[in-house]
Amino acid sequence: MTPEFKIAVFQGDGIGPEIMAPTVALLESLAAGSGYTFDFQDYPAGAAHYAKTGESLPAASMDGARAADAILLSAMGLPSIRYDDGTEIAPQIDLRKALTLFAGVRPVTIRPGQPTPLATDKPVDFVLIRESTEGLFYTQGRGEVEADEARETLRITREISEPLFRFAFDLAEARKAAGTGPGKVTCVDKANVFRAFAFFREMFDAEAAKRPGIEADHAYVDATALWMVERPWSFDVMVTENMFGDILSDLGAGLMGGLGLAPSADIGADHAVFQPCHGSAPDIAGQGVANPIAMILSGAMMLEWLAGRHDVPAMAADALRLRRAVDAVVSEGRVLTRDLGGSAGTADVVRAVEEALA
Ligand code: ATP
Repeated sequence: MTPEFKIAVFQGDGIGPEIMAPTVALLESLAAGSGYTFDFQDYPAGAAHYAKTGESLPAASMDGARAADAILLSAMGLPSIRYDDGTEIAPQIDLRKALTLFAGVRPVTIRPGQPTPLATDKPVDFVLIRESTEGLFYTQGRGEVEADEARETLRITREISEPLFRFAFDLAEARKAAGTGPGKVTCVDKANVFRAFAFFREMFDAEAAKRPGIEADHAYVDATALWMVERPWSFDVMVTENMFGDILSDLGAGLMGGLGLAPSADIGADHAVFQPCHGSAPDIAGQGVANPIAMILSGAMMLEWLAGRHDVPAMAADALRLRRAVDAVVSEGRVLTRDLGGSAGTADVVRAVEEALA
């Protein structure tokens, strides 16, 4: 029987629909050639939807996301549309919480020829895993503010940390088996100062002890920021707390020459959301100039995750093909959007990826 996968699609705000449409088309054409199928279902959510209806993530959209095999999301939120308390509309964060998507996966890849602020030609390929449900975001929206003092709570639990570390070591094993990484996991923390991070590290070490084939090491977050700039090629998989991961993943995107190339996945035990790291870029929406690559690479991550979960080797092969096609377009540097110093439009980049695939 042909495997069919139900995908909940959130087109989102700003450039969201412009980068989602070609990504869905690419995924559909890969599936057609490889013997599996997708049932893409659009669900409304986001800032524009909130402005129209007073709802940012309708219950039916949440149900659709929950029932899907995977969730593909472009970008949500618009600076001009906010909740009454002034906070931004970010259903992607609500999904992360509601579906307990604890592992925020942020690959950092610098291909030969890719524009990067680093003064080196050395290829870089590591994966940052940001815990995404607790840490210093635990009291998000509930921090206590008094006249002369404010407090937020950092929370680290065994319930989340143990599966997080299992996930990190599984990924390092998979990368080692695929020849894309040496088999190393680095725990990024501040265990020299905070007891909560000593607890975090203790659980990491317990998982490391069960993985003799994988090297495990530790790094303090401040040193990690320095090393990500000085020698980013020395990392394979790194795993860290929510706020540290938030900051380091933007540093990673900076190394990659910008947000337009940075894909991501938010993965839990039963659900996963795949979306680019960038926002809805309202300043360039509707002009046909948005870089679709981060969205396309997020689609490739979805293929890879579904392939592993449902044991569909053809899908894993397509994930690799799609990534290689993007690598070729970026390395060649002939068809790049403005954010990467080029002058191509969204459609030109998509065509170049299609040609590289062919
Ligand atoms: P958010 O807070 O929602 O993550 P942000 O404030 O970080 O959003 P973005 O929407 O990511 O902002 O945009 C930041 C800048 O990067 C903008 O100038 C935007 O045009 C540019 N940008 C973001 N994504 C893309 C893309 N895919 N292609 C081209 N430019 C982009």
